[in-house]
Amino acid sequence: MDFNTLHDMDLNGKIVLLRADLNVPVDADKNITDTTRIDRLKPTIDLLAAKGAKTLILSHFGRPKGEHNSEFSLAFLPPALQKQWGVEVQFAEDCIDIPAQNVAANLKNGQFGLLENLRFHKGEEANDHEFAQKLAALGDLFVNDAFSAAHRAHASTEALAHLLPCAAGLLMEAELTALQDALEAPDHPVIALVGGAKISSKLDVLGNLIKKVDMLILGGGMANTFLYAQGHDLKASLCEKDMADTARDIMAQAKTHNCEIILPIDGVAAEKFAANAPHTTCGNDAIPDGTMVLDIGAGTIEMLKGKISTAKTLLWNGPMGAFELTPFDNGTVQLARFAAECTKNGTLKSVAGGGDTVAALEQANAAKDFTYISTAGGAFLEWLEGKTLPGVAALSQKSCTKQCA
Ligand code: AMP
Repeated sequence: MDFNTLHDMDLNGKIVLLRADLNVPVDADKNITDTTRIDRLKPTIDLLAAKGAKTLILSHFGRPKGEHNSEFSLAFLPPALQKQWGVEVQFAEDCIDIPAQNVAANLKNGQFGLLENLRFHKGEEANDHEFAQKLAALGDLFVNDAFSAAHRAHASTEALAHLLPCAAGLLMEAELTALQDALEAPDHPVIALVGGAKISSKLDVLGNLIKKVDMLILGGGMANTFLYAQGHDLKASLCEKDMADTARDIMAQAKTHNCEIILPIDGVAAEKFAANAPHTTCGNDAIPDGTMVLDIGAGTIEMLKGKISTAKTLLWNGPMGAFELTPFDNGTVQLARFAAECTKNGTLKSVAGGGDTVAALEQANAAKDFTYISTAGGAFLEWLEGKTLPGVAALSQKSCTKQCA
């Protein structure tokens, strides 16, 4: 790939600006409810410490809209970082100027400082050059390990990369390698499994995938729209009737690209969008009046297991049904476990991403056996759309004009 990695860099005694994504989920008392984003940074932290870098960690948190707002302060994080990483982390009450400079000056080789929320400054989201210069003035090198923020052209993900010698962190490298393996240079046959609520939010994803994969399996609410476009009566199901022409167009385009689109052959229908609502399994033309399809049916699950067993690569985004509500998580859970089994047996490379998708795979206890689980939501989707991510493009050696040591 066209960027420097951490392995390429001499970091001893250098001040490294590490862009991380520490926008972690928290409850009302700021207890972290999922440490995945912290845990996935540990290899980078370990390598930076081993190489003797003095590391300043940069991150955003929430949407403070360019104003200092203690509700969005990162001050609560150092103890959690220390616990998960096993290193002491100093805190700077601003991400630029004297507070940040003081922490930088205090760091010894192999030590870490965390800077206050980047988004307390309007320049961050505006990708402002002057703000990026203030960040750049703090350090010698820039390492971007925030793939999940790479779809945003912000000062700390884009402009900064042009101001200092830069490299991808280990997590960024792992994300890009896994995604590249799954879509740009995969083992065929490749199946994309796309579910979720609506096709309108994933039109570009579908448009790009039909050009690249051998089979596109659709589930969830978006499959309803395709079934409706084929003439089925979806009764009270979530369905974007005004997208029927678009769905037909996608099916026609898929044919020209030799991509087979697979739709559910049956569904689980209920009168209410509620956990444990009375439900029945029915064919696409036998959905009872007043009910909505909330999951794929048993016939579809078996059919899809058969398809997945023929694939060498599986790319997954979006649940097959209303997975938050038992028992309508069944289709997602069954397929997740099947894909995990195939991966464990060595017949399948499985890659998944997106917040809901990862939550669903974890709920199925299948995520740990997938080949790769992306930490990204929006960035994963934009990558599936075939877009160039500004934070990744800026890391390219052509963009990174400063030479690495
Ligand atoms: P997305 O963010 O587009 O991946 O959509 C995820 C959401 O789609 C989840 O909250 C699911 O509950 C919802 N969903 C999936 N299938 C259905 C369905 N058949 N009917 C209603 N909602 C669904």
